[in-house]
Order: sequence, then structure tokens, then C-alpha cells
Amino acid sequence: MDLAPQCSAKGCRAAAVWRLHWNNPKIHTPDRRKTWLACDQHRPTLGSFLDARRFLREVVPFASPDDATN
Ligand SMILES: [Zn+2]
Repeated sequence: MDLAPQCSAKGCRAAAVWRLHWNNPKIHTPDRRKTWLACDQHRPTLGSFLDARRFLREVVPFASPDDATN
């Protein structure tokens, strides 16, 4: 597992623990989901960034590395 998915925060190389699913209605169709990965430390940072723009749709635990490729 040396290619474990990493946090999406700038400069952070911690292993991802959370997935933040988001959608920008101005450029994405309503059913489109973009995914950011986050470590425990950056989940609130990334989450509030998206939430402030009303982009955040859901936050789910990053449980399965097999899901990381989508
Ligand atoms: Zn991080």
C-alpha cells in the first residue's frame, strides 16, 4: 500500500481518511461529483472552503482504497 491516496490539501502528504464530494453548479451538471481527499487535519479546512461556496454535497469516510481511482 505504498501508493496510499493522499490528502488533497496543498502540501499535505498525509494519508486520506475522508472523501469530500462536491459540485459547482456553474460548471458541473447536478449529478456530477468531484472528489477531494482529506486527512483528519484538513477535513474541516477543505470542508469549510467548499461549504462557504455551497459546493459541498457530502463527506464520507475514505474506507476503501479501491474506490480511489474514480
Ligand atoms: Zn491533509
